[in-house]
Amino acid sequence: MSGETATGEGVRDFIRDTIRADLGAGRVASVVTRFPPEPNGYLHIGHAKSICLNFGVAQEFGGRCHLRFDDTNPTKEEQEYIDAIQRDVRWLGFDWGPHLYYASDYFERLYEWAEHLIKSEKAFVCDLTAEELRTYRGTLTEPGRPSPFRDRQVAENLDLFRRMRAGAFADGARTLRARIDMASGNINLRDPVLYRILHARHPRTGDAWCLYPTYDYAHGQSDAIEGVTHSLCTLEFEDHRPLYDWLVDNLPVPARPRQYEFSRLNITHTVLSKRRLLQLVQDRHVAGWDDPCLPTLSGLRRRGVPPAAIRDFVGRLAISKSTGEVEMALLDHCVRENLNRHALRRMAVLRPLKLVIENYPDRGPGGAIEELDAVNNPEDPGAGTRRVPFGRELWIEREDFMESPSKGFFRLAPGREVRLRWAYFVTCTGVEKNAAGEITALRATYDPATKGGDAPDGRKVKATIHWVAAARAVPATVRLYDTLFSRPDPGADGDFLADINPASLEVLADCRLEPALADHPAGVAVQFERLGYFCRDTDAGGRAVWNRTIGLRDTWAREQAKGRG
Ligand code: ATP
Ligand code: MG
Repeated sequence: MSGETATGEGVRDFIRDTIRADLGAGRVASVVTRFPPEPNGYLHIGHAKSICLNFGVAQEFGGRCHLRFDDTNPTKEEQEYIDAIQRDVRWLGFDWGPHLYYASDYFERLYEWAEHLIKSEKAFVCDLTAEELRTYRGTLTEPGRPSPFRDRQVAENLDLFRRMRAGAFADGARTLRARIDMASGNINLRDPVLYRILHARHPRTGDAWCLYPTYDYAHGQSDAIEGVTHSLCTLEFEDHRPLYDWLVDNLPVPARPRQYEFSRLNITHTVLSKRRLLQLVQDRHVAGWDDPCLPTLSGLRRRGVPPAAIRDFVGRLAISKSTGEVEMALLDHCVRENLNRHALRRMAVLRPLKLVIENYPDRGPGGAIEELDAVNNPEDPGAGTRRVPFGRELWIEREDFMESPSKGFFRLAPGREVRLRWAYFVTCTGVEKNAAGEITALRATYDPATKGGDAPDGRKVKATIHWVAAARAVPATVRLYDTLFSRPDPGADGDFLADINPASLEVLADCRLEPALADHPAGVAVQFERLGYFCRDTDAGGRAVWNRTIGLRDTWAREQAKGRG
């Protein structure tokens, strides 16, 4: 392998093997791929698999990858989606350079080629309704029946097709169909529809057309126009490949692209179908396409997931023809692994309980009186340290205290000493309660000799807890996200909406952050020590909120370790 450059060394799968062989045998001079989204929704992490494959293969083999919008159905497509898709592909880390294309750029050429098929008696105008088309098409076990219009003469077909373009007919009144084989075992070859009438405004071509090509007709020809060499798509198009090839073979296209199919990405506990995602958005089960609960790229971005973690995740998936589900826990694992290396550590208290250190000097209101050094990221010495204010009054996590500690609870309790992270040892000396008997504050003493977190006499404590100095604390709202669905296979028993996890979002409105978080950039996740990774975002009313990207416990790594052990 040594000495190879830009030949995709390393990664092996059937697609890269094919490309390597094509380049080696001189069948193609240079690799050209494309990512072809239909602008009818936002991209999700399933698309990331296709994006990373198409752009990745082009990079590895020194070729190029196009971004092409498959905008052939104006009734479902919008400019908003076109913009969001470009933003998301860029965010994921890929660049199409000057190669941004639209199937609609080719409408005129595609139309001319349709006339070419008519003239060579390989296409005809059919007057069957959509319902009739379905019954004539047959089934997997029964052959189809030829349309009564199949033998129309070229001149009549041309005349009708031109009038279809001119707007003479209503939606659905006529179609243009390829004349292939109504008895074919492959339903896609039973005289498939190439054009349908749709009086709909197109986001790019406006009202110029009322006749739109189908996906099958537009896709391969667009590939050929752009000189795409390897047209990579998901398995549901496998049965369409004979049609793809038939069209390329029967049209005067400038190049001969080939289609290869790989299995789609499916992930547990979520849905990766634009139809279902659209339904969640439209029916307001989520706040929008970029709701941090969703597996959309924009939702993952708002949750604080770094694009590199998504690329890492996708890189671990097999590019193959076998279908199956990938555990959400694997994605989570990749996110944690990335953030563990790169995220800064900060302290935050989500459910605050006041701790008053009675023997700490009281400098009056505003009282933080010293700043302690805290390490920004123990995994990355280059991240340095910061100063954290400490004072007489602190916030600690309510669940880090138990008045009557249960067995195995080693954190704060009456009379017990623990370490405050980066600060001192403290011992709880008293509990304050309100009339209802609820704990309102704790009293404690600290040992000034333990500054930095170690006792010079070598005595040990069993727990370290985090804290925030009350005088300088930043109030915050934190949103804890859980999986959007409560079962791994939403919809397996019927309506997927019934499987929505009612507890997918918990909002904590009374959190306290250390002051360094006040000007932390939005969208860049940090670790709240002991709690998980969080990232600043803005809520619908424009207020700052913090989204939990992910908790700290890595169930996937633990399961793997068990499996190996
Ligand atoms: P959906 O099924 O979610 O509606 P789609 O296939 O209709 O998605 P397109 O915009 O047509 O969405 O997809 C663009 C490209 O992304 C296609 O080549 C498609 O094969 C690929 N793709 C879509 N979903 C996945 C997935 N889950 N895994 C891998 N590739 C995918
Ligand atoms: Mg599609």
